[in-house]
This record gives sequence, structure tokens and C-alpha cells, in this order.
Amino acid sequence: MPRLAPTRYTLIPKHPEAHLFEVSCTVEDPDPRGQRFALPSWIPGSYLIRDFARNVVSVRAQSGRRSVPITKVDKHTWAAASAEGALTVTLQVYAWDLSVRGAHLDTSHAFFNGPSVFLCPLGKEARACEVEILPPRGARYRTWRVATAMRRKQAPALGFGLYRATSYDELIDHPVEMGAFTLATFEARGVRHDVAITGRHDADLDRLCSDLRRLCESHLDLFGEPAPVDHYVFLITAVGEGYGGLEHRASTALLCSREDLPRAGMPEATRNYQTFLGLCSHEYFHTWNVKRIRPAAFTPYDLARESYTRLLWAFEGITSYYDDLQLVRAGLISEADYLDILGRNVTSLLRTAGRMKQTVEEASFDAWIKFYRPDENSPNAQVSYYLKGSLIGLCLDLTIRNRTRGRKSLDDVMRTLWGRYGRTGLGVPEDGIEKVAAHVAGTSLRAFFDRALRSTNELPLKQILATVGLAMQLRSAQSPADQGGKAAFAAALGTSRRVSLGVRTTEDPAGARLTHVLDAGAAQAAGLSAGDVVVAIDGLKVTARNLDQRLARHRPGNIATLHAFRRDELLVVEAELRASPLDTCALAVVAADRSAASRRRGWLQEKS
Ligand code: ZN
Repeated sequence: MPRLAPTRYTLIPKHPEAHLFEVSCTVEDPDPRGQRFALPSWIPGSYLIRDFARNVVSVRAQSGRRSVPITKVDKHTWAAASAEGALTVTLQVYAWDLSVRGAHLDTSHAFFNGPSVFLCPLGKEARACEVEILPPRGARYRTWRVATAMRRKQAPALGFGLYRATSYDELIDHPVEMGAFTLATFEARGVRHDVAITGRHDADLDRLCSDLRRLCESHLDLFGEPAPVDHYVFLITAVGEGYGGLEHRASTALLCSREDLPRAGMPEATRNYQTFLGLCSHEYFHTWNVKRIRPAAFTPYDLARESYTRLLWAFEGITSYYDDLQLVRAGLISEADYLDILGRNVTSLLRTAGRMKQTVEEASFDAWIKFYRPDENSPNAQVSYYLKGSLIGLCLDLTIRNRTRGRKSLDDVMRTLWGRYGRTGLGVPEDGIEKVAAHVAGTSLRAFFDRALRSTNELPLKQILATVGLAMQLRSAQSPADQGGKAAFAAALGTSRRVSLGVRTTEDPAGARLTHVLDAGAAQAAGLSAGDVVVAIDGLKVTARNLDQRLARHRPGNIATLHAFRRDELLVVEAELRASPLDTCALAVVAADRSAASRRRGWLQEKS
């Protein structure tokens, strides 16, 4: 078979000040009936229809020097008239989305994900691709470099020039950063890792690289050799406030606060830095779990429409379980820090009444219309497949360890999935993970999975944590800042039962704005709604900050008078206050249990 000509692209940040990329796509042998081109509707890893074509400002087509008519046939597809010889379609794309999912361009830097900018010539998806990445014109851009995991064809390291991908699917899985970023490099198990940081920051790069190396090695060791990549890139954008990450086959795009990065001379990892390392760990684990061990529903991706799977509890939830677990196994956080994180995760789940209404399989299937489109009713009606999925991962891991007397674990499930699906490229069927887990456990896990995945019954956390010598202690929240985890709060504040309104709030110039009114709470019973601004309790002005203080004078059963605005109408309501729910969890080590302690060590300590 003759070798088919690659699809050739050029990309230039043409007008950084106007946030416009110019991107062309050339096909040597266009479809004689008229070649069609499309942009994806969504980006893998973020399950929401985003319609990237909405940022296309103009489109033109030409063949040689002749312009070719091109028309739109649906919201993301264009059809060019039939042309003899090579056909080039050129887009102007507006890029002003500072997130990990889209494209962003200004005079300080350029960042893009392929789905935002690269047209797919339909019918030619499997062709190799070549991209010429050009710098913006002008002296101020002379210091710009290029960071990406895309392979260079004819370009200096970190430079502008020609890059290549084996297919369209690969082309759009290598985000690209251009600008005057800082760069650090480390090796982990023979694999080169680059860390490119965009934005103003004063991070301690040596500390960051040494911590990331230990983290990456612990993931690489978990799955075994050979590594799935020979080069990996962390693309980090540091801003004042922000948080997000998106996984790719050989890189990740991360958005964080500059306060999350380590500072020189910082002795211990701060809570912010621990969270940042957890984010890096999460995206790096995805290099195996979802980028290569993929649901059959994503094999291949259908980027024109929603792709439904009930397995996001595993692809996001198990990844969320391992992201923090690997931090303690790699020695980057202490066991106490890890138990603190677990306590906060259990607290988050207990504060989600929606866990009683939606199963994680339903949450996964409906991600497109629910998880990615949260509203004021979400805590009452939905459960996160990340959060509950991570705790299912914990329960599954400890269940397998208990049933096999510590000989097998979730690590073995992941390695089996890696061998069976990751290395082969076969998609994981919807029942594939349950089957592999049962095989590894050597026993049926049907009842476990029916309960965890397909019912809204509580997870058996208390019993399972007891097997590793951990007691689950529940209390009511002791302050608005009490997210669970640390046990210390309770002692300081005494044991008397507190009251709550059953709301979540945010600061408003006039008082406390209700962002969420929780089911079965006092505020809901009194007729208050999300969006209302509470301005006074018992005749005294309130703010989101002092609301808790105002309530602290009351006992369960007391009536409080609330003044609130709904739009511009003043409401006066009487709320019968209720005892705060026991929804705040801390995990405590049961000192006496030595065999449980040895099981806990087997779980939290890496095998060397
Ligand atoms: Zn994820």
C-alpha cells in the first residue's frame, strides 16, 4: 500500500493582543466529492459538550492559488467544494479561556489544546500529522520557547519548528505552551520529565523536582517496566487563584495558585502544597488509568457527541484514591496527614445528601448533564464519582487485602488491567473492572459491587477501616472551617450539641447569600431558597462570616427570626433550629490492635 500523505498543519499566534491564532490544515488528496473538516465537540478527560467551533472567527479554503467555496453543514463541520490538488483550510481561532481545557493567548504567552484549534479532515483521522509551530511576529516574542510532549520532527529542543503525531487522535492529545516559562527537568526510572511553569511565581524548583521524582517513581514502580512514555511534561500555569488539571498521554496541563508551589526553605509540605502534589499525582496516574486503560466507550473517542460509560467511578475514583495514597507511600506526606485527608473525604461524602439519591454508576453516565453542570440543587441530588469513587477504591483495596490475607490488593487489579487492556489497547468493557477485581480477589465481589456501585446504601467504611486499626469518629461541624480530618477541633469547643440552618453561604455586601439550601434542614423548612440573602438573625445583622456565631447562642428546637431578601423583596421567617448533623469525620488509630497495625503498614507502606 502506498504511504498516505500526512495531514499538514501550521499554527501561529497571529494576533496575541486580539487573542487570535491562525491555524491551517492541508490535505494532499481531498475527497473528490468535497472534503469535510470538523472540530471536536468535547475534549477527552472533561465530559461536557464544549463546542470548540464556537471560537472560530473566520474560515477560508484554497487549492493552489484558487480559493475554494467552503460552507458549514452543522455546528462543528465544514464542507469544502471539490478541488484538484492539495486543499488548505485556514481558521482564525479566538483563544481567551484560561483553563486546562481550551486555548489562551495574550502578549505574555500562548497555550492550546488541540481540540480547540486543529481541524480533523473526516475520513483521514488515521493519517500521520505534521504541525509547523511558528512564533508570533515581533521583537517582544524573541524569548518565547515551546513546551510540549509532541515529538519534534524538525525543531530544536524547546523550539519553534516542525512537530509530528502518528494520528489525529495523538495530535490533539499534546497540549502546547509557548512563552518565557521557567523550565526544570528531572529523570525518574530513566524517563525524562520536564516541568514548565508559566506565570509569576517564586517556586523552589529543586524541591518541586525532587518531590515529583519520588512521586513519579512510585507510580512507575506500581505498574512496572517498561514505562508507558519516554518523555513526560508537566505544563503548569500559576495564577493568583485557580485549580484544575487535565490528563494527556504524555503530559498534563495544570492550573494552580502560585501559593500552592513550594517555597525555598519551606520545611514541611503545607496543606496547599500537599493538594498540589495530589493533583500532579492524580494526572500522572491517568497516564495508565484512562489514557491507556480506557473504557470501550472511549475506544476510539467519538468527539462529535457524548460518549456514555458507567465506569467513571473507576477511571476518576480509583485515580483519586491513588493520588493521595501514593503521596504517603512515597513518603511525601505522613501517615497522620493521609488519615487527615481521608477524614476530610469521608466528611465531604457525608455532607452530600445526594448520595442517597444517585448511584455512582448513574453519576458517571450523567456526567455530561450533571457533574459538569452543577447548580444550587447538586448537593441534594447528586454524588461525585470522584469522591465516592475514591472511597469505593479504598473499600475495594482493603476488601481484597482482607480476603487474600494480604497477598493481593488493588495494586494487582491495576497491574492486571494494565496488562490486559492498557498494553493491548483493547477497551475495558463495562463489566471488565469488576471481573478483574473478582479474579484477583479469588472470590465473588458481586455483593460488594452491587452495594457500592448500584445502590445508594452507605459504604461499609466503618467496618472496613476497623480491619486496619482505624476508628471512624463522627461529630457535628465545630465551625464553618471544620472540614473534618483532624480530631483536635472537638476538644477545644466542648461537646454541647450545636445547631445549624442547613445552608451553604457566600459573602454578599448585604449579608449572607445562600448558595445551597440543604434537604431536611431548618432553612428549607422555613421556606428559604438558594439565592436569598439573609441580612439579620434575631434582629442582628449577619454576614457569611458571623452567621455561625449568631446561631451558637441557640439550642436545638429554638426558634430564630430571620430577615432575608429574595430578589428585592424582604422576607421574615421563623426557623426552628435543628441539631447539627454528625457529618464530620476524623480517623483515629486504635492503639491496642497490633495485627491491624501490621495490616495498616502493609497498606500504606510501599514494598521495597
Ligand atoms: Zn482525573
